[in-house]
Amino acid sequence: KIMEVGKEVSDLREGDIVSGETHIFCGKCFQCRTGNAHICERMLLRGVDTDGCFAEYHVLNEQHAWLNDRKIPIEVASAQEPLGNAVHAASAAEISGNSVAIFGCGPIGACLIGLCKSFGATKIFGIDIVDYRLKLAKDMGGDVLIDGSQQDPVKEIMRLTDGRGVDAFFEMSGAQPSFEEGFRVLRPGGTAILFGLPSKKIELDVANWIVFKDAHVRGVFGRRLFGTWYKTAEVLKAGQVDLTRLITHRFDLEEFSKAFALMKSGRSGKIIMYPNKKHG
Ligand SMILES: [Zn+2]
Repeated sequence: KIMEVGKEVSDLREGDIVSGETHIFCGKCFQCRTGNAHICERMLLRGVDTDGCFAEYHVLNEQHAWLNDRKIPIEVASAQEPLGNAVHAASAAEISGNSVAIFGCGPIGACLIGLCKSFGATKIFGIDIVDYRLKLAKDMGGDVLIDGSQQDPVKEIMRLTDGRGVDAFFEMSGAQPSFEEGFRVLRPGGTAILFGLPSKKIELDVANWIVFKDAHVRGVFGRRLFGTWYKTAEVLKAGQVDLTRLITHRFDLEEFSKAFALMKSGRSGKIIMYPNKKHG
């Protein structure tokens, strides 16, 4: 909620409910001026390169603020950033009438499952190794949930697609096995969307997984500014994805260490932290 506006702010007012774009773009470089501000040449990330929003007050430049519709509940508004990532990822592949496999069912992967459902995917596979997340994926509309620690996702997906594989796979976890399994279940001519960040270099079998398959491979980062925000707000207003299902825990900001430990355990959906002890 805006407590005070600077004198050069033109469109926002005190009391407005805004969300903050985490990509702090310059607005002046080649990328920014050609509609690609999310990959600005001078990009700073809020909370990484600057102070973050886990605070009672935060200073936000007007051009990085997104004015929320009053109809969107405040908790849902605060979770738009991961949904925006999912909207950006979902927009990068053809979903309607296609089968998809989503590797990694954390909050962003689970949002993506909800979007794929609403965008008309014929079959949605969700793969994770944490049962809590698989349940979340099920709640968001996943058709077949596979626990990669118990079952071989490749065998299962190939069996359930009559040996053809999926039309698109989304790598949302950054884990080496997911890249391998994802490319192996991708049908020839299919699309691979890479979003997860591996913690170290990983191996890819370029010949067999990409070239011989004539595969389309696309990396997605952040979200388009502000096209994805408009789309995300419309998705929420239309009730196409129910983010309230994804919000599983609430904490006071001062309990942040508990909240982070829970998030790291994988046994949570989206965790909301309240800076003002208002979650009751
Ligand atoms: Zn720029």
